[in-house]
Amino acid sequence: MPSDLEVAFPTLSAEDLATLTARGTARQVRVGETLYREGERNHSFFVVLDGAVEAVEHSRGTPHQLTVHRRGNFTGDVDLLSGRTILVTGRVIEDGTVVQLDPDDLRSAVDELPELGDVIIKALMKRRQLILEDGFQGVQIIGSRFSPDAHRLRDFASRNAIPARFRDLETDPEAEALLRIAGVSPSETPIVIGQGGKYHRNPTLEQFANCAGLTAVLEPGHVYDMVVVGAGPAGLGAAVYAASEGLDVLTTEMMAAGGQAGASMRIENYLGFPHGISGAELTQNALVQAQRFGARVTVPATVRSLGLDGGDRVLTLADGTRIRTRCVLVASGVEYRKLDAPRFDEFMGAGIYYAATEMEARLCRGEEVVVVGAGNSAGQAIVYLAGINRASRVHLVMRGNDLGKSMSRYLVDRVEKMEKVTIHRNARVTALQGDGHLSAVEIQNKEGQRQTIATSSLFIFIGADPKTDWLRNCVELDRKGFVLTGNDLPQETATNDRWRAAGRAPHLLETSLPGVFAAGDVRSGSAKRVAAAVGEGAMAVSFVHAHIARPA
Ligand SMILES: Cc1cc2nc3c(=O)[nH]c(=O)nc-3n(C[C@H](O)[C@H](O)[C@H](O)COP(=O)(O)OP(=O)(O)OC[C@H]3O[C@@H](n4cnc5c(N)ncnc54)[C@H](O)[C@@H]3O)c2cc1C
Repeated sequence: MPSDLEVAFPTLSAEDLATLTARGTARQVRVGETLYREGERNHSFFVVLDGAVEAVEHSRGTPHQLTVHRRGNFTGDVDLLSGRTILVTGRVIEDGTVVQLDPDDLRSAVDELPELGDVIIKALMKRRQLILEDGFQGVQIIGSRFSPDAHRLRDFASRNAIPARFRDLETDPEAEALLRIAGVSPSETPIVIGQGGKYHRNPTLEQFANCAGLTAVLEPGHVYDMVVVGAGPAGLGAAVYAASEGLDVLTTEMMAAGGQAGASMRIENYLGFPHGISGAELTQNALVQAQRFGARVTVPATVRSLGLDGGDRVLTLADGTRIRTRCVLVASGVEYRKLDAPRFDEFMGAGIYYAATEMEARLCRGEEVVVVGAGNSAGQAIVYLAGINRASRVHLVMRGNDLGKSMSRYLVDRVEKMEKVTIHRNARVTALQGDGHLSAVEIQNKEGQRQTIATSSLFIFIGADPKTDWLRNCVELDRKGFVLTGNDLPQETATNDRWRAAGRAPHLLETSLPGVFAAGDVRSGSAKRVAAAVGEGAMAVSFVHAHIARPA
């Protein structure tokens, strides 16, 4: 089994070097020459034929050499594929020769040379993992761990694999010193310090993404074949298949690629992973796969409305940007429900969480936590939180009496056997306490008896509603707001003037508006599973081809 370093920094054979040389441009380089500089986008990929190139980063204030590439090594990490700004600088330290490939040449090489492509992709992904583990600081977030805004920024960074260091005002002595240097008072936190020491006070996600080099640059006036709204499993599935079949596809995502699945600690029922796979790993792999085929994924980009202009569909983003496209795939999933308890909004992100990932588990290590809900998401969270070195006790609060009613049997068995889990049946949360951060949760059973649990973490898994506000009055929705498609559309809609003019009936995943499709959890009647969402996303692509070949 090769070590992480061997995967991250392989030495290519003479044969591979000759193949890449034939696809790129070989050139002489001299000591001191900078091949790429941190902060740049869409830079080239370099293979070293002789001489040496060092990769240096400056996130700790002084130059820090990460590695030296010599004959047979190559430069870059996943940002070569994603179009994000690069984190490190590449400088020649011994005269020699390199082969230069631009990002499209690299994509073709990876596509057409599967074995070599596999080595390169694995190396680029492993390098990002190593750089995150190696203390690379990237952006710095300074704030209190009890602040909802600091949580919002940390969550965004962690879900988007942005190298970021969190400095907790409560515990990190350097945090205040950094604030003094920046001339910012603790009451103005959180602040984010980006490359070059530029800082932002309590930035929006858009400003934060910009500061971290995430936001993609969109070409005005460009007409895409397909724009996917939402980069959960359905959206990513569609992006992979569309890009691999040559469609010009853009995916817009308001928060982080991965959707709900990205927040799942372990997905055990996805085909091909007999031991399960973490949602983050599955969806990060899918993201790289989509980008490898040339799909563009832009984060954060919230779609606010959909309209028609001539033969094009036009999506408007929250910042007013308009995107033109022949087809749209609605893959915007669902939004979690809130608990009907006083002060709920006050503690959102300040003790109330919708996901139980490593980040939340670290915050509540050694403490009692409360989980509300009795479905599979709640079950998975409980099993995770009650694991070794995590919460000291997990209180499950459920309205009903029978855990097996909505939770899979394997999870019920595990939850009921866990010594650290207390199940409160026929109970509900009636009050939340705390000053700035949650400190206690009051629950009441059906006999009216109340109990207060001292806790700073409340996890909510009580179902979700479709994210379709941006589609109202535009495509037909069912009673609960899910998107109607294909055979589920009312007969009078499927045969109205629009479809008569099109000379065809709606395709299986097509909405009431021709050329607008829906896939995954947002679709009325969908299975609400990762595999189903991925499958529907892939299937929608075949209907997109059909629509483009014969537009309505
Ligand atoms: C904790 C948890 C554990 C789970 N575990 C499992 C499991 O083990 N097995 C399983 O099969 N299923 C599991 N599920 C269910 C599974 O994750 C979902 O069925 C699946 O993620 C649905 O995929 P989707 O792409 O349709 O929607 P989502 O995953 O909801 O993704 C939708 C995406 O669209 C984005 N979006 C929404 N509105 C907009 C907008 N206007 N503009 C731009 N972007 C937008 C959202 O930010 C989101 O990223 C789990 C769910 C949760 C919450």
